[in-house]
Amino acid sequence: MNGEDPAVLHRLGEELLALLRPAAVTSLRITHNQRLIIGLRGSPRTGLRLGIHAGLVVQRQVWPAIAAWISGRERRPPPLLQQAIDAVFAANKEHHKEPGPDLEPLAGSVDLSGMLAQVQHTWFPHLSTPAIAWGRSAPRRQRRHIRFACYRRSPPAIIVNPLINQPWVARRFVEYLLFHELCHHAQACRPLVGETAHSARFQAWERRYPHRAAALAWEKANLDRFLAAR
Ligand SMILES: [Zn+2]
Repeated sequence: MNGEDPAVLHRLGEELLALLRPAAVTSLRITHNQRLIIGLRGSPRTGLRLGIHAGLVVQRQVWPAIAAWISGRERRPPPLLQQAIDAVFAANKEHHKEPGPDLEPLAGSVDLSGMLAQVQHTWFPHLSTPAIAWGRSAPRRQRRHIRFACYRRSPPAIIVNPLINQPWVARRFVEYLLFHELCHHAQACRPLVGETAHSARFQAWERRYPHRAAALAWEKANLDRFLAAR
């Protein structure tokens, strides 16, 4: 049985509606969105309108539980139905997880100095070049959030978390990290009294990087993978 086939779904919906007619259900609408797994509108007197997720419609074994729930006028679905609802909800959540932008992976390892030179040449050619080095990454069991890179003022240096040195990591993401730290370097090169780390001037510089949104979306979509990495 293919639950995604609209014709099959339609036929199942008709069958389910026939089963539920004695419980005063007069119409059935099949949804595919994660917000509605099962819901009733209307009243038994004027007719009940059932909204139901396709993932439940295809589970014939829970139909009797649906019928019992509707005719019993219980607020809470019976356990069997609740389990099926939870399963559909979980499957949907997985399905709707943002995949993140498809950015070109590093494929090999990162040449930090080479990449920094390139980023700096493109956006900050007037600045001196800070040092750049790999830092240390926290052991996995202590990893709840990750600092991918940071900037040290004196002597000027960018420290990069070795976690990003993995072939699946997007090149744009690493480039963005270096760009971000170069904005901190630009601050340090022309300091302002009392300036905060991500000041208005900093943000204005950062907006010049055209792939910032894509890099951040990629980071968000891949954070779990970083957290789980060895
Ligand atoms: Zn920063």
